[in-house]
Amino acid sequence: MSNHIIVAIDGYSSCGKSTLAKALAKKLNFIYVDSGAMYRAVALYFLRDKTDLKDHAKITAALKNIHLNFHSRDYQTHITLNDEEVSEEIRQMPVSDSVSAVAAIHEVRKEMVKQQQRMGRSKNIVMDGRDIGTTVFPNATIKFFMTADPKVRAERRFKELQPKNPDITLEYVFENLAHRDYQDTTRAESPLRRAEDAIILDNTDLTPDEQLLFALSMVEPFL
Ligand code: C5P
Repeated sequence: MSNHIIVAIDGYSSCGKSTLAKALAKKLNFIYVDSGAMYRAVALYFLRDKTDLKDHAKITAALKNIHLNFHSRDYQTHITLNDEEVSEEIRQMPVSDSVSAVAAIHEVRKEMVKQQQRMGRSKNIVMDGRDIGTTVFPNATIKFFMTADPKVRAERRFKELQPKNPDITLEYVFENLAHRDYQDTTRAESPLRRAEDAIILDNTDLTPDEQLLFALSMVEPFL
């Protein structure tokens, strides 16, 4: 048994995983890792490079040219792709539209999981994603599985995106979330599912402060 603590947070798209993960990490003084940002940065690279997602040899070669780094500032995700800050660009719709297809590719998952496991080897961390409690850290200290009403999730994400994307519609955001959930839960490799020992957290009617208090009360016995 290692003596450091790993908090794994999985769940559907836009149900507040990163809000909870950041708040927990800040409160506990743990490292926060947004694993979705890594898949998004890879998807951005492939979009720019016009990589054919069926060309596995090209993908394997491209992965060797992709260098990702996190720079933690105020517990916000700052990620660089080959030294370029891409934190804003990876949140835009072109990446959101293609990321789940990229995340379903075996070679991509293998490389990301390897990097994620390395990050959790010696430090206390909170990591959020889709397969953290099932594949990346099946022996995590504590696991949460988050969910929320799909309409509430779409409204939250729409409010976040709208200021910078005035033409975006709520319907479009709703469809994107539904599509990503479908792809994430039905893919062959590490599909999104609740680990048997994960604590379910439905935050449809919870404020961020309420969900933080609940999660802290669950983590505290392990501190
Ligand atoms: O968490 P976020 O919504 O930014 O993740 C973007 C996409 O990356 C997800 O829709 C999913 O397809 C993929 N992902 C994944 N495994 C993870 C984290 C994210 O497949 N651990």
